[in-house]
Amino acid sequence: MSKDRIAKSCICCGGKVLNKSPAILMPFVAKRVFDHEPVMVSPEWGMQDLQTGMAYSVCNTIQCNDCGVTFLDIRFSDSEMAALYANYRGEEYERLRIHYEPGYARRAAAYTGRFTYIDQMDAFLRPLVPAAPAILDWGGDTGRNTPLLQQASLVHVYDISNVATVDGVSAVSMDIVKQTRYDLIVCNQVLEHVPYPFDFIAEMAAVMDDDTILCIGVPYENLMRSQPASREIYKQKHHWHEHINFFSAESLQKMVMRAGLRPVEMILIDAVQGDLKGCIAVLACRRA
Ligand SMILES: [Zn+2]
Repeated sequence: MSKDRIAKSCICCGGKVLNKSPAILMPFVAKRVFDHEPVMVSPEWGMQDLQTGMAYSVCNTIQCNDCGVTFLDIRFSDSEMAALYANYRGEEYERLRIHYEPGYARRAAAYTGRFTYIDQMDAFLRPLVPAAPAILDWGGDTGRNTPLLQQASLVHVYDISNVATVDGVSAVSMDIVKQTRYDLIVCNQVLEHVPYPFDFIAEMAAVMDDDTILCIGVPYENLMRSQPASREIYKQKHHWHEHINFFSAESLQKMVMRAGLRPVEMILIDAVQGDLKGCIAVLACRRA
């Protein structure tokens, strides 16, 4: 898809009917990505036609009229993504985040262990894959939150972060991915961060065979969950942080279909953990 700075088409289904409403980019993200800081427009500036007050980085909230996905209009470049996610949740990240968002300090502790909701995801996936599945976790970081970790015969993680993986998990290159057959490809809690989620799906679809199950999991944000069919959500989303895409069930389904896959099931998990209140996942396979 096109790599315009400001999205001109839907990031999921490619639709062109996009509704929009003004919003702000949260200062933490604006600082990490653009090195922009909030600024006070004071009377000393002598602006003749402007009101005084605090100015934040402006953006638009966009909602696709075809599939309902709601997203930040700005699409970050590779180098901007690298700036945002360098040493993710490391010391410098935490210092800056607490500076702009003092409440973050007490929430940070929630991110250290394996998410308990993964057990629920395991229960959905278990009947769909062989007893000892070969698993690829796309964007799976250390692998600590990879579903079915204990019963898998093989767990590969493909992730740009290059962090050390947990026991039983191997970080692999794309060459290895292309040479390996997987029963399950998981991409969980990744696509809400990425500028071009459809491109990710298309890449994953290309390494699936007829028996591979794909599981795409994303946060089911409260705004989407409370009004799943609404096309008016864009009017209610006034700020953007690291989650630059808010998915609906319909948008996930249309995105996998656009990649030539067949959605086979949706998973909904409530009361996930910490900041994450809900999770939604689509399971898909190659068309029969
Ligand atoms: Zn769409």
